[in-house]
Amino acid sequence: MEVDKMDENEWKYHGEGNKSLVVSHVEHSQVLRFLKYPAEEPGKSHKAAKEAFGHLQNIVDFSKNVMKPFLGENYVHHGEVVHLPLDFVRQLSLKVEQERPESRCDKVMDIFSGYALCLPNLTKLQTCHFSESGPPLCIEIKPKCGFLPFSSHVTKDVKHRVCRFCMHQHLKLANGKWKRMSRYCPLDLFSGNKQRMSFALKNLLQEAQNNLKIFKNGELIYGCKDDKDCLQDLNELTQHLKPYFFPANGLIHGPHCTRTVINELINVITTALLSNSGTCRTGEIRKLHISEGRAHCDASHFHRDILRKGHCGLPKDCVLSKILQAQMLDNVDIEGLHPLYNRVEQYLGEFPKERIKLQIDGPYNENCFEKLRNSQSEDDGTVDYAVRKVQQYRVAMTAKDCSIMIALSPCPDDELPEPNLVIQTSKSRLIYSVSILDLDPKPYENIPHQYKLDGQIVNFYLKSTQVKP
Ligand code: ATP
Ligand code: ZN
Ligand code: MG
Ligand code: MG
Repeated sequence: MEVDKMDENEWKYHGEGNKSLVVSHVEHSQVLRFLKYPAEEPGKSHKAAKEAFGHLQNIVDFSKNVMKPFLGENYVHHGEVVHLPLDFVRQLSLKVEQERPESRCDKVMDIFSGYALCLPNLTKLQTCHFSESGPPLCIEIKPKCGFLPFSSHVTKDVKHRVCRFCMHQHLKLANGKWKRMSRYCPLDLFSGNKQRMSFALKNLLQEAQNNLKIFKNGELIYGCKDDKDCLQDLNELTQHLKPYFFPANGLIHGPHCTRTVINELINVITTALLSNSGTCRTGEIRKLHISEGRAHCDASHFHRDILRKGHCGLPKDCVLSKILQAQMLDNVDIEGLHPLYNRVEQYLGEFPKERIKLQIDGPYNENCFEKLRNSQSEDDGTVDYAVRKVQQYRVAMTAKDCSIMIALSPCPDDELPEPNLVIQTSKSRLIYSVSILDLDPKPYENIPHQYKLDGQIVNFYLKSTQVKP
């Protein structure tokens, strides 16, 4: 990318989250990810823009030096910070403004600093040595937390039975964040049992919220931009998907068609999520097992009788297993962490200069990772122990909030790629790649808020599911 020859006409709105806005190049497989700031305080955004470079560099370092070693070389693309002409950024921001969903407009894109992250466009295939035949398809899943807390610091028993996502649904509905309840349960997706995973994926397709998006040729064709603006027509989706799964067969139509095609899609997603994509398959496939008792959530609608038989575990190097292991660094739960956070805060109150030495807010260099690996689990009462737990918790938070991108492209008949790069469906062959995105460090200062929110979610769940007399 030549930053001095940037033309806003070559870029278009791609999507956004809570923290950043993404534009994609119309031809090349590249995106720019800009920071966003609250709209109502322009003074503040000027100040934040001054810190934008450091902030973005921290994101790159954290993805590269902390998250990549946990999640694996093949899944993480950390990108780089680029400095762009301010004129280009302003023109671009005007251009994308009309495309943005209303519910996201409480924040504005950073147009003052000129800095952004440049990343590969992960809606496109990452294995570039094949001629792409036809537009790539991409499934984005934000799986959320896949285990029940096992910490003895947990005070509310319900947290050992019902997962965070399922409990949070009740509060989100009451707050008006979403209009309909999702029946997706992350524990089903992370179970490694194909039936349960299919059930989870069906529920995501039924009610995508911000946990599922599907792109064709980089364009959103299924999922929500916003609670008011959702593309969720399964018949329409089927029309898009048919050429990928039934390339030669124009005959498949009628009422069975949607079900058949959607089942093919679900099978492909399940296969990709369980594969060791990109890594060589040597020897036996070791499995990651979560002990039986914590492997399912009471709020899941999956059939109980099947559940008893259906515990499989995840192949050790598959993307779900990597994400789950990083999530499980949160092994004291927010309830066990909050007092440790207070210990750090008290120490920093007395010795403010130590904040830099303890690398609370970065820099996230190679050393940080080694420190986090250290798994000494006894609290020896030190600040070092507390800092390590806080940092492990932050890594887990990032892993609970990331998204998986599965890119698929029809495999040309004359190509013979490595077997681990292809998924065979009943009537077609697809080349695929799996990546993980949104690996930003979560702010240290957010921990008290997380503690409060946890209490709110649990209390609200208990109140709203109480059997009324
Ligand atoms: P969140 O609110 O989930 O924390 P965020 O503000 O941190 O989101 P991202 O999740 O990184 O932002 O980006 C928002 C959306 O933009 C993603 O959900 C994804 O659809 C798209 N996106 C981000 N990075 C890429 C990329 N490298 N390639 C393709 N699409 C991307
Ligand atoms: Zn659940
Ligand atoms: Mg995100
Ligand atoms: Mg994010």
